Amino acid sequence: MPIDLRSDTVTRPTPAMLEAMMQARVGDDVFGEDPSVNQLESMAARLFGMEAALYCPTGTMSNQIAIKCHTQPGDEVICEKNAHVYIYEGGGIAFNSGSQVRALEGDRGRITAEQVSMVINPDDVHKARTSLVALENTCNRGGGSCYDLEEVKKIQQVCSDNQLKLHLDGARLFNALVATGRSAAEFGRVFDSISVCLNKGMGCPIGSILIGRTNFIRQARRIRKVFGGGMRQAGFMAAAGVYALENNIDRLAQDHAHARQIAAVLEKKGFVKSIMPVETNIIIFETEGGTCAKDLAQHLKEKGILAIAIAANQIRFVTHLDITSEMVAKVIEVIEEL
Ligand SMILES: *Cc1c(COP(=O)(O)O)cnc(C)c1O
Repeated sequence: MPIDLRSDTVTRPTPAMLEAMMQARVGDDVFGEDPSVNQLESMAARLFGMEAALYCPTGTMSNQIAIKCHTQPGDEVICEKNAHVYIYEGGGIAFNSGSQVRALEGDRGRITAEQVSMVINPDDVHKARTSLVALENTCNRGGGSCYDLEEVKKIQQVCSDNQLKLHLDGARLFNALVATGRSAAEFGRVFDSISVCLNKGMGCPIGSILIGRTNFIRQARRIRKVFGGGMRQAGFMAAAGVYALENNIDRLAQDHAHARQIAAVLEKKGFVKSIMPVETNIIIFETEGGTCAKDLAQHLKEKGILAIAIAANQIRFVTHLDITSEMVAKVIEVIEEL
């Protein structure tokens, strides 16, 4: 079996998680009658100190539902130029919401309150109506970078001063919380909506939760149905989510330690030109002139290690629940020999 560092989405449910799924009490969730889905939604809402939550099949759907609820066709959404909602969701903002994007150049995926305030359109018939700011935490293309909560609060102030909604793509928010020592509730207070993934470091086979106010979630539930995401006995999957919220958050620190260990070895290698600061479970490095990222990924594959070449000269490693300390030792051994 290769050591799979391509993404934290490759995890498989542990025996304990599978047992929780097998024991799940279920019902028809479109009727609102699935006790496991209801349990997961109320757990998530409570965790973030928000009013309500909605279980969705994917993080993409959670984000797209939120954007649809917060915008009207012809509106403009402010986000960073490498944001998942913009570059990795199939043009969904245009397709689903008929809105356009104002993409900002951030610092490893993070934008500032000042940047946001500079691009809000005036009330002018020539201009698209700016209605939403979407942040990402951690930032995938920023190498798993974390937002400073104080900056997020400033962005929130700009949003409320200008009647903009604020959404968080928190696919890996739990990684950020563990890394920065912040609580879910601190983020819940700042955002109009938050999406979190259960299918990544949390170790579930599928699933994401969208969290927000009662009225927002009522509208989101309608849009989820329109998008084809109204699932029936989804409780078998939601039970995995309940298990993950109870057992898999604190252990993310282990993934972060593993990532730092691998990065420390990479830093010393000649084929590594630069490496983004490793704050969580993602390592992105740039290869030196002569080394093409694709060739390096292929070479690693032959040595039993899977990684992704995310650009011509960039490789990404992601640590996760299925990567043990023994595997990290093996990865380090292989890198040292390169
Ligand atoms: C993975 C990811 C998502 C959603 O992914 P799905 O595969 O649709 O669950 C959203 N945002 C970010 C930053 C991600 O990394």
